[in-house]
Amino acid sequence: MKILLCNDDGFQAQGIVALHDALRTFAEVEVVAPEHNNSAKSNALTLHSPLYVHRAANGFRYVNGTPADCVHIALTGLLDYRPDLVVSGINNGANMGDDTIYSGTVGAAMEGYLFGIPAIAFSQIDKGWAHIDACAAVAADLVRRIGAHQLEGGRPWLLNVNIPNLPVDQVKPPKVCRLGRRHAAEKVITMPSPRGDTMYWIGGAGAALDASEGTDFHATAQGHVAITPLKVDLTDHDALAYWAQGLNHMLAGGQG
Ligand code: MN
Repeated sequence: MKILLCNDDGFQAQGIVALHDALRTFAEVEVVAPEHNNSAKSNALTLHSPLYVHRAANGFRYVNGTPADCVHIALTGLLDYRPDLVVSGINNGANMGDDTIYSGTVGAAMEGYLFGIPAIAFSQIDKGWAHIDACAAVAADLVRRIGAHQLEGGRPWLLNVNIPNLPVDQVKPPKVCRLGRRHAAEKVITMPSPRGDTMYWIGGAGAALDASEGTDFHATAQGHVAITPLKVDLTDHDALAYWAQGLNHMLAGGQG
């Protein structure tokens, strides 16, 4: 199995180093990852400045760009082969519910998926890397099992996986979940700059709003690994008929 490994925390982050070590026991793994932390960069591509690829002493390639840049470059010219799987992570912190919209970890995996390659994004629930080697072992085991069953033919797929910070023997089996929801983010934080301007810092993510049974929030709170299959089509299919009918009414001059 040939794996392209990326992340959003940067090529030196403990999460990608641990996952690389775990994956390489059974797969050929090529790392192409951002030079610096690119968390919350979603699917952003860099269009107005050049990108450079360097190779670190440990063999990892790093790019002065976003997670999606890394995967994009790898798949469109840097690699002379097509990987069987794109893996992203392990992220420093959960990517559940609405986080997935902003997540660079998910963005990197999604870039692979958009190129027709199966992809998995891994995140560890609590920041700080506690039990990261256990998390990497759980992630790699999942890759190995899924790879053995589903990499042959078929449609590409995109999985979002969140793993609790627990020792290996305390991590409960994976559950397939829907995404939960978060409350709106916390207030922006302002402070004066040394030169008297006001600086704004984006506030923290909101607490869980929908953490009911069946969600990723619920499963990970119980110690399970949460697996959510994602899709990219943002169309609100349930609303198509409503808007088609409403638009006809508006165009006909109705008042609603
Ligand atoms: Mn991150």
